[in-house]
Amino acid sequence: QAKSLGRATFCNFDPQMQVDAEERVRLEHDMRQAIGTDQFHLLYQPLVSSSTQRVTGFEALLRWNHPSRGPISPAVFIPIAEESGLIEELGAWVLRKACIDATTWPDEITVAVNVSPVQLVVPALPNTVSGALQKARMPANRLELEVTESVFMSGAGNAVDVLKRLRGLGVGIALDDFGTGYSSLGYLNKAVFHKLKIDGSFVRNAATQEETISIIKAIVMLANSFRLTITAEGVETAEDFNRMRDLGCDQIQGYLFGRPMPIERTREIVGSKWEHRLVG
Ligand code: C2E
Ligand code: MG
Ligand code: MG
Ligand code: MG
Repeated sequence: QAKSLGRATFCNFDPQMQVDAEERVRLEHDMRQAIGTDQFHLLYQPLVSSSTQRVTGFEALLRWNHPSRGPISPAVFIPIAEESGLIEELGAWVLRKACIDATTWPDEITVAVNVSPVQLVVPALPNTVSGALQKARMPANRLELEVTESVFMSGAGNAVDVLKRLRGLGVGIALDDFGTGYSSLGYLNKAVFHKLKIDGSFVRNAATQEETISIIKAIVMLANSFRLTITAEGVETAEDFNRMRDLGCDQIQGYLFGRPMPIERTREIVGSKWEHRLVG
């Protein structure tokens, strides 16, 4: 297409951008073929109670193993799925699969599923969610949906309605990556969210920056006043764990307690306790 516009236009065209655009088209095409095949699978990362150090649930994280390119990061393929509309079908698959997998855990263990803002504007989402629960015969209170602050950037009013409708089904809604995006304090109430996940960047910076500790303290106070559960993401060291627990985080998630793992491995760690690995 650039060529047909003449040589001058072609020269002005950023070659990197052209590769990216072609790459996106190719990946979108490949993704369309891949949905419903074993190229997609879920890994599960444990969420641990900071007081008991036991697993309380897992977050489902989507993986794409491309037949010729190998593993592709969700940071790359999720945006393509969102822009192409494929996220609706892919997201529905994730919900069904995660609910079915969760029924192999004890009853008190929850499963968290990431939901894209694009899925939230699809009117069928509440039906997709209740369908996934019914098919797995799983009670709604074992499912948590994770949404990021970006849901408020476009059509905020509508997103809030959908989130409230989902809460009405009995599922939890967590505000993911809190503090990294559009500040949405006005929506931080119990009618919409039940949990707030403090982004890993705060956890990392808290190790060296006093002001980050102050911000975390303010977030925790805010969340407490709305009776929201607080999870710290990206906890990699015992020091991070102790710091975030002492700052008032209820749950901890991060490489310290486990990287995202296949469903088979999760069964070995439900019910286990980590105190032997922690110092202080
Ligand atoms: P997220 O929901 O915030 O998930 C946490 C990400 O942090 C995961 O990256 C996880 O592997 C990584 N992580 C966990 N603990 C640590 C740690 O201690 N240190 C560090 N450095 N990283 C840690 P992942 O799996 O690459 O996923 C990236 C993002 O892709 C997710 O961020 C989520 O926004 C999105 N995503 C993943 N699966 C899905 C899905 O099924 N649907 C949608 N819509 N988005 C998904
Ligand atoms: Mg998440
Ligand atoms: Mg997160
Ligand atoms: Mg994140």
